[in-house]
Amino acid sequence: MLHIYNTLTKKKEEFIPLDPPNVKMYMCGPTVYDYFHIGNARSFIMADILRRYLIYKGFKVTFAMNLTDIDDKIIKKSIEEKIDTIAVTQKYINAFMEDVIKLKIKRADIYPKATEHIEDIINMIRTLQNKGLAYNKNGNVFYNVSKYEQYGKLSGKNLDELESGSRIEVNEEKENPLDFALWKKAKEGEPFWESPWGKGRPGWHIECSAMSCKHFGETFDIHAGGNDLIFPHHENEIAQSEGANSKPFVKYWVHFGFLNINDEKMSKSLGNFFTAREVLNRYSAEVIRMFFAQAYYRGPLNFSDDLLSSAEKGLEKINNLVFRINNELVNPKQGTNPDFNIEYYRQSFEKAMDEDLNTSQAVAVIFDFVRDVNRIIAENKALDNSFFLFIKEFLTATAEEVLGILSFDTDQISSSIEKELIDLIITIRIDAKKQKNFSLADKIRDDLKTLGIILEDSPNGTTFKKVT
Ligand code: AMP
Ligand code: ZN
Repeated sequence: MLHIYNTLTKKKEEFIPLDPPNVKMYMCGPTVYDYFHIGNARSFIMADILRRYLIYKGFKVTFAMNLTDIDDKIIKKSIEEKIDTIAVTQKYINAFMEDVIKLKIKRADIYPKATEHIEDIINMIRTLQNKGLAYNKNGNVFYNVSKYEQYGKLSGKNLDELESGSRIEVNEEKENPLDFALWKKAKEGEPFWESPWGKGRPGWHIECSAMSCKHFGETFDIHAGGNDLIFPHHENEIAQSEGANSKPFVKYWVHFGFLNINDEKMSKSLGNFFTAREVLNRYSAEVIRMFFAQAYYRGPLNFSDDLLSSAEKGLEKINNLVFRINNELVNPKQGTNPDFNIEYYRQSFEKAMDEDLNTSQAVAVIFDFVRDVNRIIAENKALDNSFFLFIKEFLTATAEEVLGILSFDTDQISSSIEKELIDLIITIRIDAKKQKNFSLADKIRDDLKTLGIILEDSPNGTTFKKVT
């Protein structure tokens, strides 16, 4: 039985969906005004692993991730780049999809966009207004937090605490500093939609309430996101959805710990970030996923090259076995079939994952498995083909399909070898430069360029990018 920590009840709870075996899972996605960073990728990948594990356990999961495609930051970017907001969001939605594929994150079943749900959003705001939970001030509509008694139940704070400690934006039109915008009046030159309150656009929080309700109904199973969203975003979603529908909103709230840099949250606004695509130039998706899987999903994790390199080294051990299995299966042989209790590893893997998604323990089980299989291979000269099929099936179901840390696809393996070869050539070029052999260093750079591999030198070293 899977147990998962629920931020709402602050307990690990047995996971029982509302309508088994169906599971509806909603994850807050990106605001599409830039490339996403590797901190965002941590949340996206851990949600992906949870989703994949639910599928492994036989649940039928419908996964939705929203795309926030209208917002102040998008408008700012459209002014900076002198293009309209749709061109901005289209560019970054495309980039988002490319990065998601590269990170081996399963495509969501639904990617609802805010701009395609304006009518649903307006209807929900109208309901809130009719119930006395929202008020209109000169074309701006706010949620009246003091009218919703349970406000603070997710973040575990009461209204007084929240007010004194809040970093809430000040706005003279609000009756209470914690009130938040449901509908924002359009300023001169901003994109707008017509509404009962005049020309404007939706606030961020109402999007998720309206879109999850539209696709999943008033109550659904899992709502996920990074820790930074607990307050105010998710607290506000609960106030809106439960306020409008008078029904429990979500059964399990799942939150992911921050990826930090020097113990500080990686974020766009602090500027201390690496985009996922930058990191993908240096490490494969499998290495990045391994790095995340080796940490507890709720705790903080520091981004570090040392940890990524050690994840890479660990994966090499697993990949050597994958390589061996692939080779054996190309030339099937008959031989001994050793006594090997695969069920023990399967149960250990499931026990780890069932215990609040203990992925680091699950990875440890995979390492034990690889070590024990290697011992058997060393001890038995001629092993039967069925043995290799047997161990491949286990690694595919667990490490490949749940954790996404390896691939039996032979193309993938050649691409990791390709990366190692390019890294080797880069090291040779660095040596050439140290020996002041600049003509060789330039020749290496130019020859790689003709192969579509561009080297980029920076004070932190040389990285490469492939152009096709
Ligand atoms: P944003 O585009 O900032 O709204 O973030 C998209 C998703 O990434 C949300 O679920 C955030 O909670 C999550 N997120 C943002 N920064 C981090 C971080 N440093 N570590 C982990 N998750 C993050
Ligand atoms: Zn959201």
